[in-house]
Amino acid sequence: MAIVVNDPAPSTQPQSSSPRPYRLAYRGARPKPSVVQVGDVAFGDGQLVVMAGPCAVESRTQLLETAHQVREAGARVLRGGAFKPRTSPYDFQGLGEAALELLAEARAATGLLIITEAMDSGDVELVARYADILQIGSRNMSAFRLLQRAAETGKPILLKRGFQSTIREWLCSAEYILAHGNDQVILCERGIRTFDSEFTRNTLDLNAVPVLRQETHLPIVVDPSHGTGRAELVPTMARAAVATGPDGLLIEVHCDPAAALSDGRQTIHTSTFAQLMDDLRGLGQYLGRPVC
Ligand code: PEP
Ligand code: MN
Repeated sequence: MAIVVNDPAPSTQPQSSSPRPYRLAYRGARPKPSVVQVGDVAFGDGQLVVMAGPCAVESRTQLLETAHQVREAGARVLRGGAFKPRTSPYDFQGLGEAALELLAEARAATGLLIITEAMDSGDVELVARYADILQIGSRNMSAFRLLQRAAETGKPILLKRGFQSTIREWLCSAEYILAHGNDQVILCERGIRTFDSEFTRNTLDLNAVPVLRQETHLPIVVDPSHGTGRAELVPTMARAAVATGPDGLLIEVHCDPAAALSDGRQTIHTSTFAQLMDDLRGLGQYLGRPVC
């Protein structure tokens, strides 16, 4: 018998004394889970969607090789940054539109859908011309003008949690998108900054998954790559994440992580990814959450 891991009753009691300001995102307003349909992939219908690919698009060879391999392993969506929010202005900033063209080529070659980040209001229209899903990054979760512009494209939006943001603030950011007429929102837990950065880059807050299940009808995905910052921890935390019942995972994968221009330290090799997908299929079957 499959275990039901992901359907707590909606929370009727606010977790603080103030009322919920995210009234459209609130599950009480819409008790049935929302399904975000992107092409033939559905987020929120009880299956697990795996999105995988490099942190950044670096070259045609890197992207196509990685894309074919993650497709072979069972991913449905290809990730890859064209515009990269880097802490240092001297780090690789992404290939911009050239990367978007490579993503479109990889989509045509593999049938994978494409997710990529829009970093700035000025990029949104361009990115939306290529992407199947717009990613709003952790550093931009509270860039409200960007959220509005992204909402106006009508594209599905994956909203990453700000690494210093509470769940309430995150849901308020989702509310900006919903309030601007776009209900195609997927929430992505990607780790928060806590006091210990010696062994991990962030603390993956898996509490967020069951909390969000109670609080919102929106689909939820987990990113164990940014959530840990260390490739060797990613498979374990991906499996742990699946046990909390999310609708998907977002994982950084590269055909040669040691040569990656961005986030190589937390990026798993395509062969590790293939092994992980086997594990996730078994786990998903056991948990009643099949990998789609
Ligand atoms: C990314 O997905 O590569 C990224 C920059 O993520 P985050 O915004 O979560 O740091
Ligand atoms: Mn990254």
